[in-house]
Amino acid sequence: MGEAQVSLKHLFRVFTKPEHKDSKLAQIEQHLSDNIMDFLSQHVVTKKTSLEEIEQDFSLPAVPESPEFVSSHAESLLEKLVAHSVNTYSPTFIGHMTSALPYFHLPLSKLLVGLNQNLVKIETSKAFTPLERQVLGMMHNLIYDRDEPFYEEYLHSARHALGAFCSGGTIANITALWVARNKLLGPQPGFSGVARAGLAAAYRHYDIGNLGVICSKRGHYSLSKAVDALGLGREQLLSLPCPAQTLNPEDALREGRRYQEAGNKVLAIVGIGGTTETGHVDPLDELADVAKELGCWFHVDAAWGGATLFSSNNRSKLNGIAKADSVTIDAHKQMYVPMGAGMAIFKDPEDANAVRHHAQYILREGSKDLGATTLEGSRNGMAMMVYSTLHILGRRGYELIIDQNIEKAQSFASMIDAHEDFALTTTPTLSLLTYRVCPPQVQKALSVAGDADKVRLNQKVDRLVVGVQKAQREAGKSFVSRTRLECPNTNSQAITVFRVVLANPLTTKTDLQNILAEQVELAKGMRIWKELIKLADQVSHTSASV
Ligand SMILES: *Cc1c(COP(=O)(O)O)cnc(C)c1O
Repeated sequence: MGEAQVSLKHLFRVFTKPEHKDSKLAQIEQHLSDNIMDFLSQHVVTKKTSLEEIEQDFSLPAVPESPEFVSSHAESLLEKLVAHSVNTYSPTFIGHMTSALPYFHLPLSKLLVGLNQNLVKIETSKAFTPLERQVLGMMHNLIYDRDEPFYEEYLHSARHALGAFCSGGTIANITALWVARNKLLGPQPGFSGVARAGLAAAYRHYDIGNLGVICSKRGHYSLSKAVDALGLGREQLLSLPCPAQTLNPEDALREGRRYQEAGNKVLAIVGIGGTTETGHVDPLDELADVAKELGCWFHVDAAWGGATLFSSNNRSKLNGIAKADSVTIDAHKQMYVPMGAGMAIFKDPEDANAVRHHAQYILREGSKDLGATTLEGSRNGMAMMVYSTLHILGRRGYELIIDQNIEKAQSFASMIDAHEDFALTTTPTLSLLTYRVCPPQVQKALSVAGDADKVRLNQKVDRLVVGVQKAQREAGKSFVSRTRLECPNTNSQAITVFRVVLANPLTTKTDLQNILAEQVELAKGMRIWKELIKLADQVSHTSASV
């Protein structure tokens, strides 16, 4: 189908000529421009096609021998790919941090791809480099609020960096801990520093058993990747239980002391500015003091929650963030920028020099090439999308959206509380919450049951929640995710819960009511619902007779 000539002339056309104006490609473009929502809503995740069936469409390992016409290729993309992608723009898609984008990203992304700048060095990006530096400066200012002379001195300084722009929160967390590691194990007389000599030599020189990172169990899995990639080892991620949902500063201090007394050194404490699962914010201010006490780095992972700083009404939820040595913020989360935009921001403009790297043909000494202090090499001009969104929405625009997200989460929590068939498992600090579907008889039984019965009941409720979550996803009208959590009222038993992220400004309260109604209907239609009620009656009965 649609086989094109193999000729340089044809390939030359592919590079240079736009397709004629009613080609399939032009139609796709027009359709997308006319209404992205419409375009996507025709293709809500199709339940009829299993992943295994879709895999059949992507199973040939051989590179196609001959070129294909762009139009016929576009047609096959529509059929094989677009029709089976996920409608993250849907107002009832409330399960993940990936949501709808403002419309202007579509035309602006053409600039990005069209210009194809590479931010690794000025020679391939020119004005994009100062733009990226300004974006990092704006985020630095949002967190640390330094005075004008500070930004005049450092924003465009070749010898400093206020942060590192990267593809996401994972790389940002790795970058921050990389800087912390290289600073802690830096050069000294007789030692060239960890960056040159390596970790084994650094441990010997500094007489360190192991380096560890302290965070709560709710820490993002990227922290585990970070300690692995940096050579510390995953066992040195000291993730502490957080029965009260956030990292307890006293526990962190005790654990840090215990670890250091055993001949190790704490590299960093990571406070989370909005956990991925529940949106809770660690006590950043107190954790900063603990880090000081232990003499270690303080990093705040605010990949999701960092955008809360735009809201003067809610920014106090991140109190203490300005004490962090480094902060991670993802622009592709609550800043409504397309995927591929993360930032690690450094309090001290000197710090990035701990990872500075020079090469002969680029990144020459004294150049302003951003690639000298970023983990990644070639990078696109994604900072432009952040720059544009910051301008088009403005701080006050962001404030409206963030405040609305939090209010919506609070009213969803009230809806859940008021409904007898649901139990809220974590209340929203930011725009995330978790809950589960649970017959009222079971909720009652749980309040009187002994430990063994609680475990039995909870395990059955877990199965109900999993069943409902899958059935709802497969029905394709709405999407809520699920996770497993230890909650204050389940001793330390982990339970399965629905997880909701309220990020789409177009999600209405009616959408939320409909989602709950659908879940109840699905739950009541399951055999396990009746089994649960029976078990609850038994438990209540025996507990009453004890
Ligand atoms: C999403 C998230 C990350 C990882 O970010 P990616 O952009 O997915 O790499 C890290 N930390 C937290 C708290 C997050 O929510």
